[in-house]
Formats: sequence, C-alpha cells, structure tokens
Amino acid sequence: MDAEEFDVAAITGYCVYEKKKNREIKNPKQIKLKNGRPAVKGTCASCGKTIFRIGKLK
Ligand SMILES: [Zn+2]
Repeated sequence: MDAEEFDVAAITGYCVYEKKKNREIKNPKQIKLKNGRPAVKGTCASCGKTIFRIGKLK
C-alpha cells in the first residue's frame, strides 16, 4: 500500500505536546522513518515544537 500524499499547503498532524489533532505542520520536510516509511516532519504552528506524521509530500 502506498503512503498518503499531502499537499504542502495543507499538512496537519497530531501534536503530542498538546495532544491535539489537526495542528498545522509548518516548514514540512520529507523524512524517512527507521522502518523505511516516508514521513513528514515540521514545526507545530501552535506550540512551535517539532512534530511529524506518516506520509509523503507531493
Ligand atoms: Zn503543538
């Protein structure tokens, strides 16, 4: 199964620091997890911490 693809303008993720869903991920960057799956890493628009989610940037 292919990973989800995200539009750069509309990436949101779960913020583990605030325990809130749908936080905007600022400055998203494509990364790879240890298991080889693509993920998107960036900064939470709300609290400024680094958060990430599984998926691929377009
Ligand atoms: Zn946050």
